[in-house]
Amino acid sequence: MAKKYDVIVIGAGPAGYVAAIRCAQLGLRTACVDEWIGKHGAPAPGGTCLNAGCIPSKALLESSELYDRIRQGGNAHGIVAGDVGLDVVAMMDHKDKIVRELTGGIETLFKANGIDWITGHGQLLADRQVQVSTHDGGEQTLSSDNVILATGSAPVAIDAAPLEGEQIVDSTGALNWTEVPERLGIIGAGVIGLELGSVWRRLGSEVTLLEAQDVFLSMADQQLARAALKLFGGQGLDIRLDACVKSTRVKHEVVELVYEDPQGTHALNVDRLIVAVGRRPYTEGIAAPETDLLYDEGCFIHVDENCCTNLPGVYAIGDVVRGPMLAHKGSEEGVAVAERIAGQSATVDFDTIPSVIYTHPEIAWVGKTEEALKKSGVAYRSGVFPLTASGRARAMQQTEGMVKVLSEADTDTVLGVHILGAHASELVGQAVIAMEFEGSSEDIARTVFAHPTLSEALHEAALCVDRRAIHIVNKKSS
Ligand code: FAD
Ligand code: NAD
Repeated sequence: MAKKYDVIVIGAGPAGYVAAIRCAQLGLRTACVDEWIGKHGAPAPGGTCLNAGCIPSKALLESSELYDRIRQGGNAHGIVAGDVGLDVVAMMDHKDKIVRELTGGIETLFKANGIDWITGHGQLLADRQVQVSTHDGGEQTLSSDNVILATGSAPVAIDAAPLEGEQIVDSTGALNWTEVPERLGIIGAGVIGLELGSVWRRLGSEVTLLEAQDVFLSMADQQLARAALKLFGGQGLDIRLDACVKSTRVKHEVVELVYEDPQGTHALNVDRLIVAVGRRPYTEGIAAPETDLLYDEGCFIHVDENCCTNLPGVYAIGDVVRGPMLAHKGSEEGVAVAERIAGQSATVDFDTIPSVIYTHPEIAWVGKTEEALKKSGVAYRSGVFPLTASGRARAMQQTEGMVKVLSEADTDTVLGVHILGAHASELVGQAVIAMEFEGSSEDIARTVFAHPTLSEALHEAALCVDRRAIHIVNKKSS
């Protein structure tokens, strides 16, 4: 007889493992099935995020930033460093150690919460049965009252640049190189292209990014995107827009690219190439055909606003369903689904999910961009505070960027906050809280912020909505 659970989660990424823990906390008999094999050759929970995404990329961003700052930033602070060396293998070991510690932490949490962690490929069968094919070739069938599908996503491949050994790689490959390529090409100047481009640029690569769109970071507020493009150019990231890659070929360890832009056809030779053109939902073999699981366009599993699929008792969360492909979005969907299964009511506010690009400076935002507000015809007011006017930013010698607050013209409700600057990833949380409580720019303006902090820039930007910022000369409202 099939072993019976209250909930089976397929996928132990940040959507699935969080859902499993919350289910167990609520007293539900829970199993979590995952097929990921870690770099150390053993099963590793945590999905893309912990094994090949958020965590390893941020470890390398931190290490490379530290290297870059010690090399370039010390002098202005009166610090004189001797020769600064680079050990890329040690940097990779440090990253792998963090990954192992965190994935090990999830195993501990599974044990502590009484969750059955089952390693292998899971497939949804009819009537909420789950077939698990284990890595050693075994098979078992489990059954459950509820199944949560959380199988995540995989990199998009393009015909013009098929992956080839260590030479043409996706993001996972580029997180594991042990030598700094002299010339690095990246197809796609999106989030991954910019983050990994920053890592390898800081470590010494000459980086060229080829972006198909004629607009840089079309999803971000364009005032900040334009400022960021200038800053990244100054750092040595050569970002070429409106560039369409036609072909690639590896010859004598060199990747030869041909691309077209409005000026014509160009050749580009690089030593390594990263393909970072987006991710797609990972649904291969997830449900047996007889289940009649419904998919949206692009192979996302079809769900309603509560993450319910078309099958009773079957839910789907995270990258495998609509919405931004972000770890925190998947985790919150996981918590909400667990609580609904346990009979509670829970929702996710999709309007206040923050986005962060971990470049230097960072770009972070929540809510609507100025372009989106213009397009939808909403009357709004805007306050922008440049970080050059922040005492803390000056002390840190990190004055690039700005904070922008957008509020509804009549009600003053905050509609969007956009930050380009050091620690923007931390600052944006304050804006998320303000928006979650339906706060106004006046609410932020009346809040006391500690001095001297970068957060004061948010305060000043909110004051600036009403043209009463203190540390800049306020321009008249247009
Ligand atoms: P995943 O993390 O992809 O996990 C899915 C899991 O399901 C995997 O372990 C997979 O092996 C398993 N699985 C799939 N099918 C089956 C099956 N049939 N049976 C058993 N197991 C199965 N997001 C952020 O919010 N912040 C960041 O800084 C960030 N950085 C990123 C950097 C990179 C380089 C990349 C690639 C992504 C990054 N992301 C970031 C995106 C983030 O990793 C994803 O949004 C997140 O991991 C999605 O979580 P998930 O649980 O839906 O899926
Ligand atoms: P992305 O959508 O951010 O960027 C892909 C870029 O490639 C886009 O600008 C797109 O216009 C461009 N592009 C597409 N096809 C192209 C082609 N043929 N030639 C040239 N350019 C092309 O996707 P990504 O950077 O691959 O990241 C994937 C997902 O992972 C994102 O959705 C993101 O949410 C998530 N992620 C998040 C973070 C973070 O939160 N900091 C970090 C990394 C990844």
